[in-house]
Amino acid sequence: MDCIFCKIIKGEIPSYKIYEDDKIYAFLDINPCHNGHTLVIPKEHTTDLTTISQDVLNHIMAKSKDIAKLLDDKLNMDGYTITQNNGFVEEVKHFHIHIIPKYINEKKMTVEEVHKKITL
Ligand code: AMP
Ligand code: ZN
Repeated sequence: MDCIFCKIIKGEIPSYKIYEDDKIYAFLDINPCHNGHTLVIPKEHTTDLTTISQDVLNHIMAKSKDIAKLLDDKLNMDGYTITQNNGFVEEVKHFHIHIIPKYINEKKMTVEEVHKKITL
């Protein structure tokens, strides 16, 4: 299947990984809205909220909470927004949660710099 997120999970396309377990994979968005913009995806390919299993969705939401805590610990964000697109507004047709940190004062960093800060 020609899915870029499946290729990221398999390591065929590089990514800035910040968390992985047997069911999910979390990595930094290549075109971030703000420092630490993260995508959390299931390892099993599924298109969107209408097709994802309840079990995997529960796991993704529980872990997204932990990942947001990790982002806060490492990047000192002031708040964050979670979004998830479906249908024609979803650009990559592999379910993903966006965790988007928000800052009162933000000094924009490169994705590489952010990744170093999170994984140090
Ligand atoms: P959506 O509009 O919800 O489908 O968002 C897809 C997101 O995937 C966008 O924010 C893109 O910047 C991001 N994206 C696309 N390709 C990659 C990639 N290779 N690595 C990391 N993020 C990506
Ligand atoms: Zn996929």
